[in-house]
Amino acid sequence: MKLTVFSGGVHPSDNKEWSAHKPIEVCPLPEELVIPLSQHIGAPAKSCVAPGDRVLRGQVVGEAHGFVSVPVHASTSGEVVAVEPRLHPFGSFLPAVVIRPDGEDAWAPGLSAADPDALSRSEIVDRIRSAGIVGMGGATFPTHVKLSPPEEKPINTLIINGVECEPYLTADHRLMLEETDKIVDGIRIVQKALGAERVIVGIEVNKPDAVVAMAEACRPHGIEVVGLPVMYPQGAEKQLIVSLVGKEVPSGGLPMDIGVVVQNVGTCAAISDAVRLGRPLIERIATVTGDAVAEPKNLRVRIGTSLAHMVAFAGGSKGEVGKVIMGGPMMGAAQLSLDVPATRGTSGVLLFSERLVASQQEGPCIRCGRCVHVCPSRILPTSISSYARIDLMDEAEGLGAMDCIECGCCAYSCPARIPLVQAIRYAKGAILAKRRKL
Ligand code: SF4
Ligand code: SF4
Repeated sequence: MKLTVFSGGVHPSDNKEWSAHKPIEVCPLPEELVIPLSQHIGAPAKSCVAPGDRVLRGQVVGEAHGFVSVPVHASTSGEVVAVEPRLHPFGSFLPAVVIRPDGEDAWAPGLSAADPDALSRSEIVDRIRSAGIVGMGGATFPTHVKLSPPEEKPINTLIINGVECEPYLTADHRLMLEETDKIVDGIRIVQKALGAERVIVGIEVNKPDAVVAMAEACRPHGIEVVGLPVMYPQGAEKQLIVSLVGKEVPSGGLPMDIGVVVQNVGTCAAISDAVRLGRPLIERIATVTGDAVAEPKNLRVRIGTSLAHMVAFAGGSKGEVGKVIMGGPMMGAAQLSLDVPATRGTSGVLLFSERLVASQQEGPCIRCGRCVHVCPSRILPTSISSYARIDLMDEAEGLGAMDCIECGCCAYSCPARIPLVQAIRYAKGAILAKRRKL
């Protein structure tokens, strides 16, 4: 198969060797689970429980609010001890259901198994929505929305994202090795829901064992598996589409505009659980790693578990911790505290030492142009960020700020360590807010 090379991109050290060979371990239940009602793009769920209620594993504790929304579920059985704002990984206090586990881990009744072959396309999508499935590569966009394209936009190609191009993270890699058949089952369910003729799985070649395992499992079903060159951000949706089918998503458009839908491998595994077993999304695989983590691991963690609990299970921190990131180092979100819960989008927790962070102080722009050269969206990061910093948002928008995929290549390449992505992200937020008011 002929691959197309997307423009821009960088080659950061992947540092995956710390955890890539570590089998997934089950993180024990903590003493308290904090289930945020906002774990997805779209309207937050609305709580349907109250303090004092007993809840069961998989029970809905927050109902979806609108089409672009999903319900949230109890990750174990126990007592609801509070419904209140708690510190969220977004950095602010947001409504959450707090559960004290009872140790029984008892499933809620009514979570029925089903044969996907006997379900209609709309029944499959309904089960995916009820299970609260969202994009687990970190985007957290509700999956049922992606699986409901308008009639005039038929989907002919389903792309499965097994790239995991963020440095350090190895959760998808381990999942492809340890739950290969479940991922393939989920892929086939999604293919049926979309009626897509062609399915291609993309995996970077720095995971050769995953390429082999997935190729063997996919072959009997006519699903192609393609090893991709290692180049960040190979796993970004638009760049992956360029690489695998040679087509560009138009500016401001969606993959469905060109007949493509992209799903992450972790999402496919969750879809198999949801559709075949009736199990909602109450846990995920996350990598806990970084030079300040004692024993980097890949964990199966219940949603709502604090990052502090996850790090403790990975042997705790070592030395002075200079920075905590939820997600990968390129696109993840810096955290002020470990007392925030893992959500459906938590692909990893990274702890970096003071020494590593101290070498990253900001200086003046030296007009080297590196940020422009590596930008896969072919925009001008330095100019857009300069406008954003002085609140000239129309000018930032005119230079294509909304086409920024927030990959972080510009900031990574900048010798002056200017926080370009934060400024552009700020501009995007301001532009969207202005559009909503118009
Ligand atoms: S401007 Fe946006 S898309 Fe371009 S390199 Fe920076 S973060 Fe990536
Ligand atoms: S990479 Fe940094 S220093 Fe170079 S032009 Fe861009 S913002 Fe300026």
